[in-house]
Amino acid sequence: MSTELNPFAIAQEQLAEAAELLGLDEATHELLRWPRRELKVTIPVRMDDDTVKVFHGYRVQYNDARGPTKGGLRWHPDETIDTVRALAAWMTWKTAVVDIPLGGGKGGVTCNPKEMSPVEQERLARAYIRAVHRFIGEETDVPAPDVYTNPQIMAWMMDEYSVIKGHNVPGMITGKPLPLGGSEGRGDATARGGVYTVREAANVLDLDLTGGTAAVQGYGNAGQFAHKLGEEVLGLKVVAISDSKGGVYQPDGIPFEDGVAWKKKTGSVTNMPDTQPLTNEALLESEVTVLFPAALESVITAVNAGNIKARIVAELANGPTTPEADQILNQNGVYVIPDFLCNAGGVTVSYFEQVQNAYDYYWDLDLVHQRLDAKMTSAFHAVHRMAQSMGVHNRLGAYLVAVQRVAEACKLRGWV
Ligand code: NAD
Repeated sequence: MSTELNPFAIAQEQLAEAAELLGLDEATHELLRWPRRELKVTIPVRMDDDTVKVFHGYRVQYNDARGPTKGGLRWHPDETIDTVRALAAWMTWKTAVVDIPLGGGKGGVTCNPKEMSPVEQERLARAYIRAVHRFIGEETDVPAPDVYTNPQIMAWMMDEYSVIKGHNVPGMITGKPLPLGGSEGRGDATARGGVYTVREAANVLDLDLTGGTAAVQGYGNAGQFAHKLGEEVLGLKVVAISDSKGGVYQPDGIPFEDGVAWKKKTGSVTNMPDTQPLTNEALLESEVTVLFPAALESVITAVNAGNIKARIVAELANGPTTPEADQILNQNGVYVIPDFLCNAGGVTVSYFEQVQNAYDYYWDLDLVHQRLDAKMTSAFHAVHRMAQSMGVHNRLGAYLVAVQRVAEACKLRGWV
């Protein structure tokens, strides 16, 4: 992978810019440039045809100065240690920018769950926990869902961990189903948090979103709920959606129920009746008010950034924009809500889930929404204010807020 597109090289480059502006001393910068701990495991799993397949898995604990590390588990064929490191770094900045008492971590397995039966997925989930259980736990490092993992996988993992410990440990993982200690509002939390930040961005830009348009790249957890809440909360008309197989366009708007029903029925949004086909590349460049990248990293690059026509780019995906692209978007007046601010709703409600597990007392949906809105709104304005006062683009503004907080915690602990 070229350095320009290696997500960890990008994460380090973004940090370097913030470190220079903050005047971080060399030791603090070096400490924040690298994960504090990394675990690499091999995971043999018996497949349905009775062969054994050996999977490669990771868990990275990037920085725990502000609290136990926290971050999702991604199951993807392109998963590498550098993707996991980058995602773990971004989790560190994310928990800091929304000011929750957690650090950042991430994990994953290189695999293609689409080619695995549910039973094979369960065996992999349980085997992963047997491989990493000494390294994680409610007081040290708490995983959650990410790309191609879901509440059922979290449930198997929680059960395996509880079997090893000999008692129920719901707080060791978040994004669980409700009957096993999940939180109300966790399902749509990432998109909901993102939508709250779009609402605030529209306010500071004095932009009326009602009747505006949106395009959503990626139609999984984050993307589908962005479609739903973009319509419901912001009054946007979603004109383009896509997934790994391609996209579709309908200038009159694609109703959420239709998009989600077609995806459920066929496994993809492509070939949806009453729509025109659209490539993922063209979707990013569509003429819309809000663009939601909600798939994978490095999709907005120096090559296509100049063609982005959206007024607001709300980064639900982690790392969708490269540093070169950031400069171009900024010069062109595109308002970017950077990933670790925009998609922080997921970890915020995951944190609420941990709190509820610890108390063994559960909140209703209204309270979750109210507390999520308060966290996201205050984080948005902290970043916006910082970017405005320092005369920098929003991503750098978010880095300045987050890195300052993590660096302060490292200093107070006497690490640097
Ligand atoms: P998901 O597995 O539910 O969905 C991923 C979607 O992306 C699928 O529709 C898939 O078809 C699509 N996709 C995959 N490759 C693609 C490609 N090359 N082009 C277009 N679409 C492609 O995953 P998710 O949980 O929705 O995560 C999506 C993004 O949001 C990731 O970057 C993830 O890290 C980030 N994120 C998710 C959460 C969360 O709570 N789920 C929280 C924070 C950030």
